[in-house]
Amino acid sequence: MFKPNRLKLTHVAFSAFCALVLSSCAESPTGRPQLMLFDNTQVSKMGIQTFEELKTKTPISKDKKTNQYVQCVAQAVLKATPQKYQANPWEIVVFESDQVNAFALPGGKIGVYTGLLLVAENQHQLAAVIGHEIAHVMAGHSNERLSSNQAISATLSVADVALSAMNTQYKAELSSAFGLGAQVGLVLPFSRVHETEADVIGLDLMAKAGFEPEQSVKLWQNMAKQGSGGTPQILSSHPVPENRIKKLQQQMPAALTSSKPARRRGHCPVVISN
Ligand SMILES: [Zn+2]
Repeated sequence: MFKPNRLKLTHVAFSAFCALVLSSCAESPTGRPQLMLFDNTQVSKMGIQTFEELKTKTPISKDKKTNQYVQCVAQAVLKATPQKYQANPWEIVVFESDQVNAFALPGGKIGVYTGLLLVAENQHQLAAVIGHEIAHVMAGHSNERLSSNQAISATLSVADVALSAMNTQYKAELSSAFGLGAQVGLVLPFSRVHETEADVIGLDLMAKAGFEPEQSVKLWQNMAKQGSGGTPQILSSHPVPENRIKKLQQQMPAALTSSKPARRRGHCPVVISN
C-alpha cells in the first residue's frame, strides 16, 4: 500500500511556497525589492471597506473652512504623484476628533483628524503628513505587510509539519530559530523600513507640490513635543525611526531643488492655516 512520506510532502509544500514567493516579487518606488502576495485590487477593496466603516463610527467635520483647507493641501500633494495615482479621484475626509492622526488607504482614501491640525501648524506641515501617508499607499506597504504576515504564518505551518517528523533535539532548535525570525527578523525592522521609505517619498511629493520641505523637520519636532501630554496616535501606527529627522535633513538638498520649479510657478496653495 502507498504510504505518503511526510518529509517529502513537506518538501513539496515548501517548494510550492517558495515558487509563490519568487513569483510575487515587486519593486517599491525607491527600488527596494518587495514581497507582494495579494492582488492590489483586493487590497484596495479592503481599504475602501475600512474607510466606509470608519465614516459610520467617527463624526465627520462639517466646518467649511477646515474642509477647504485640508482639501486644498491634499489635492496639491496628490497632483505631485505620478499620473497612475491620479486616474481615479481620491476621497478626502476630515474627522472630528482630538486624535493627532491622519492616514491614507489603498483605494484612494485619505482621513485627517482635526486634532492633527493643532500640531501641524501650517499648510507645509500638513502637506508633510499627507505626503507621508500617500507615500505608504504608493509604495504598496499594506500589501507588503499583509504578505509578510502571510509568509510568516505559512513558514511556521510548514515548519510545524516538518517538526513533527523530526527528533526532539532539532525540534527545539528550529522552533527557536523560526520564533526569533518571526519576532525580530522580519516584523520589527519592516516597520522602520516602511517609515523611512514613506518619509523619503513623502518629502519628494510635498517639495514637488511647492510646499516648504524644511517644515517636515519642524512637524516631527512638534510631534515629539506632544509626547509629554500623551503620545500622538499617529506615532502608534507610525513608529518613529530614531534617525528620522537626520534622514529628512540628508534628503533636504534634493527636496529644495525639487521644490524650486513649483514654488516659482506658485504651486504652493496659499491658504490660511487653522
Ligand atoms: Zn508612516
